[in-house]
Amino acid sequence: MLIPTHRLNGESMFKKRKLQTIENRAADVVVIGGGIVGCSAAYYLARRGVSVILCEKGDVGLEQSSRNWGFVRQQGRDEAELPLMMASNQIWQGLEAELEADLEWIQGGNLALAYDNERMELIERWHPIAKAHGLDTHLLTRQQLRDIVPASKSRILGAMYTPSDGQAEPRKLCPAFKRAAQAKGAQFLTQCAVESIELQNGRVAGVQTEQGSIQASMVVCAAGAWSTRLLRPLGVKLPSLWIKGSVAQVAGAGDLTAAGVWGRVAFRQRGDGRLYMALGVEGEHHLMLDSFRFFPAFLPLYLHNRQEMKFRFGRVLLNDLFGRYNDFKRHRTLDPPASRQGIESALRYLQDEYEGVAKVTVERTWAGYMDCTPDMLPVIDQLEKPRGLVLASGFSGHGFGMGPVVGKLVSELIIDARPSIEVTALRFSRFKEGVGTKHSPVV
Ligand SMILES: Cc1cc2nc3c(=O)[nH]c(=O)nc-3n(C[C@H](O)[C@H](O)[C@H](O)COP(=O)(O)OP(=O)(O)OC[C@H]3O[C@@H](n4cnc5c(N)ncnc54)[C@H](O)[C@@H]3O)c2cc1C
Repeated sequence: MLIPTHRLNGESMFKKRKLQTIENRAADVVVIGGGIVGCSAAYYLARRGVSVILCEKGDVGLEQSSRNWGFVRQQGRDEAELPLMMASNQIWQGLEAELEADLEWIQGGNLALAYDNERMELIERWHPIAKAHGLDTHLLTRQQLRDIVPASKSRILGAMYTPSDGQAEPRKLCPAFKRAAQAKGAQFLTQCAVESIELQNGRVAGVQTEQGSIQASMVVCAAGAWSTRLLRPLGVKLPSLWIKGSVAQVAGAGDLTAAGVWGRVAFRQRGDGRLYMALGVEGEHHLMLDSFRFFPAFLPLYLHNRQEMKFRFGRVLLNDLFGRYNDFKRHRTLDPPASRQGIESALRYLQDEYEGVAKVTVERTWAGYMDCTPDMLPVIDQLEKPRGLVLASGFSGHGFGMGPVVGKLVSELIIDARPSIEVTALRFSRFKEGVGTKHSPVV
């Protein structure tokens, strides 16, 4: 089968636009970035009466937040993330009602498949963690797996299943949060790249945007893959690199399962029967200047994933060498082409491991860059220096499911100074302390 490889938006990076200018504005909080983290933060801040302006260099939810698989998964999380993800799952269960929007939410569970002893050990090691946190995770035999996915012919050693996990449509989430936030008074400025975060006497005073300046005593950096660059001029070193993931939309698979499935091939089935499908493990890293700057911090992660990591040397590095990624308006939407090889391998696994999928059609493909930290955990923190800066970034391929609770926690960090869930393990200073390079392999 000829697999089409598309970009999601097909937007020219250099499209000329008529620039709007804004009067000198002011707000209590400026949020930088209109992905799930920024949109959700704007919503929860506005809900509590805080005046908030969100600046997005393109349009909301066009980078990672609309390109992901759509898993809302508690299963297999690092223990530092698990309480957040369990709270996020609770929010997800009422989110369509809260935002008055169809998000294609399905609470069909999540499955992790083990084909070898190494992964089986990870599953067996993780299961007691789930139990300790009161999560409804259980281990499955091959036969029990077939009860959930009758078409499965995978030769697995075992599997893990969490029925309370779910899935939703990524493209619908940010617009829904945006509408709900606007209804509560939040302002959204799109096509509005933040060029710098402004300081006065060592604390945040606002932002300079391509449309003018905005005064604010609090700024939330939720700029996803761009956060490291945005923070660098302030002397804030966030170690994060771009890892590409490719996804395909597949039609004609028949009725497979309501669960999100994570094996050699990962997929979930939408309400209309189409699958979103990808390689279960994919690590395509396009080398950039930060790959060298942060090499020591990322070395343990590289070594652990050396079999899956594919290093690419080319246009991304050249763009970086010429400083093209430092101009945020130049890339309204980061829109890499999907990897044909990755999609072909995922399709082969799908056809090898499931019945009734021999004649599926790949309808479209896309890719996104995840912002990964050395320990594959995000930073959710109000920084010591400069004061007034909240960082919510580095979600390392896990941020869609967590997005709703992260926005809530950001609002609590700003309004209450203490979030309702402990996030100390996700503090920014862990990288300086030397504990932020320890990646604990989870399922
Ligand atoms: C292929 C793939 C599969 C994934 N699968 C899953 C999954 O199944 N489940 C899950 O939980 N997570 C998944 N993820 C991860 C998840 O999508 C991300 O962790 C999450 O979307 C990150 O949200 P964000 O708001 O931090 O970043 P983004 O969605 O990337 O948003 C950042 C926004 O900031 C804007 N911005 C950047 N710089 C500036 C600036 N200077 N001025 C103004 N705006 C700026 C950008 O334009 C962008 O819109 C996946 C990711 C990928 C790529």
